[in-house]
Amino acid sequence: MKKTPEELISSYDTPVPRYTSFPTAVQFTADIPQSFYHKQLGVLLGDEPVSIYIHIPFCHSLCHYCGCHTKVVHNATPIENYIKSLLAEIDLAGQHLPNKIPVARVHFGGGSPNYAHSKEINKILDRLAKYFSFSNKTEIDIECDPRQLSSEKITDYGRLKVSRVSLGVQDFNVDVQQAVNRVQSFELIKEQVQLFRTANIKHINFDLMVGLPKQTLKTLEETFTKALSLQPSRIAVFPYAHVPWMKKHQKLLEAYPLPSPNLRFKMTELAHNVITKAGYKSIGMDHYALPTDSLAKAQKIGKLKRNFQGYTDDMAQTMIGFGVSAISQFDGVYIQNKTDSIAYRKDITENKNPIERGCILSEDDKIRRMLIEQLLCKFSVYLPDFPTIDVPKTKLEPLQEDGIVKLTPTDVIITELGKPFARIVAASFDPYLRVDKGTRHAKAI
Ligand code: SF4
Repeated sequence: MKKTPEELISSYDTPVPRYTSFPTAVQFTADIPQSFYHKQLGVLLGDEPVSIYIHIPFCHSLCHYCGCHTKVVHNATPIENYIKSLLAEIDLAGQHLPNKIPVARVHFGGGSPNYAHSKEINKILDRLAKYFSFSNKTEIDIECDPRQLSSEKITDYGRLKVSRVSLGVQDFNVDVQQAVNRVQSFELIKEQVQLFRTANIKHINFDLMVGLPKQTLKTLEETFTKALSLQPSRIAVFPYAHVPWMKKHQKLLEAYPLPSPNLRFKMTELAHNVITKAGYKSIGMDHYALPTDSLAKAQKIGKLKRNFQGYTDDMAQTMIGFGVSAISQFDGVYIQNKTDSIAYRKDITENKNPIERGCILSEDDKIRRMLIEQLLCKFSVYLPDFPTIDVPKTKLEPLQEDGIVKLTPTDVIITELGKPFARIVAASFDPYLRVDKGTRHAKAI
């Protein structure tokens, strides 16, 4: 007998990785020497574009749902000191890079990178330009906390040729905002969207969240409607990941009843219905984009990818991360920087790149990475493309019985019903998940 949606949710509301990488960061180990990192930089081809990730881990106040690597500060000095270290880190890496390697994209993430003064962002871009070649095709993206933006900063970003901003909107309902300690008005964001457009920054993303305390289907529908009235290029609707064993401040949210898995599922469904009805294309599990946006175009031609920032149309094979906790991705290698800011700074003062840990992918890992990426981006895989992978029938057949996947002799296809459970399907191809039974990930739904 077929399970009801409620039964499906209770069966599959289990912790699984988000698979922004495979293997996931849980498999990273501490045996990556400096020389190995330098070698990865040195063998990059001088004519193949790379992408760069810059982590700026500071915020003005702490949102109680926050799962990021960030620190609350109340003046500019710690940010400026940190950026001095970050510039030195770029210099240290730059010594090992081929000359003027082209850069496809620079992504500023955090934290709230826009909490830094725009002259600090300018310094970082100038320092990168010493080692990398920027062109008019280079994209510069920055994540922004609307509460730390001013019209001057927005104008500066226009001058710096920032191409895309992601505004942390989350929810427009005041009760929800108060519960999560992030109060910002719709009027503020509306004004900023206009200022960005005036500054010639046309690509504006909104990040929204479902599963927060005080959210109801009614309040969320109002939030989605308000967000859509501003016509952002992309909308990401992230499910809140409650991981208080990793992020202790999230315990503060337990003062309120958190939406049940069933309600979270309905919230995700509502997001899908309201946003796609407004003409947005559904991208992967949790993104939406206007049909004219590059993410929707990438999906249309089968070029949607997944990286540490989530769904992307970034085709660069290499991502070089700078800043505390930043992860670099080379051909078959992940390398992560120190996650402790004191240890990060200490390494740099000792003229060492602040490497903490990483992972060298086996051939099997590389094939599984491709398979999992295809599952999460295209919702299907053609198994003859992966002849060395044993199909995990004992895991997939129960998913087929529940209508989550359709199995043919050659394909694994995630059904419409199964799309919200796509990470569970991906997990069935992850051999490490069995080994790390004790690891606690966020829930699948
Ligand atoms: S602004 Fe973003 S990074 Fe900073 S505390 Fe809030 S959620 Fe976390």
